[in-house]
Amino acid sequence: MAGQGRLSDILRSLNQANEVGFRIREAGFVLEKAELKTLLAELTGAISEAKMELGIMQGHLQDKDAELKAMGELLHAKANLRRRGDGYYKSRDGRLYGQPYCSYCWEGEQKQYHLHNRILKKDVRICPHCKNEYQAQRTPYLDADTLVY
Ligand SMILES: [Zn+2]
Repeated sequence: MAGQGRLSDILRSLNQANEVGFRIREAGFVLEKAELKTLLAELTGAISEAKMELGIMQGHLQDKDAELKAMGELLHAKANLRRRGDGYYKSRDGRLYGQPYCSYCWEGEQKQYHLHNRILKKDVRICPHCKNEYQAQRTPYLDADTLVY
């Protein structure tokens, strides 16, 4: 079915345009005005359809690009996040640093949400997304200054 930006549809439209050219050549470039009008209409129709399909295909390609970028970012995060205590931390050369991410959200949905300190409760941290609470002691901030680059 046309209108889905498939290569086969684009090629079919271009073949149709090519065929019009072939028919004009075959007639020795001598055509009745009415026939010429019909062929021109066919030609512009085929080209318009190819252009439309190409536009749709470009949209598909942009979607795929965005998907690939997101997958690349997820792979990068998976390679660099490590669990410690109840949180996940960024790591560099095997050393963990920074604010912890919610382990529930990371393990369940591969989403990274930093844990926040609960207001007026210094010993409790909370995920802003899933609202799970963590002991601050088991999810400390790890100073990046101890890292040697
Ligand atoms: Zn969470």
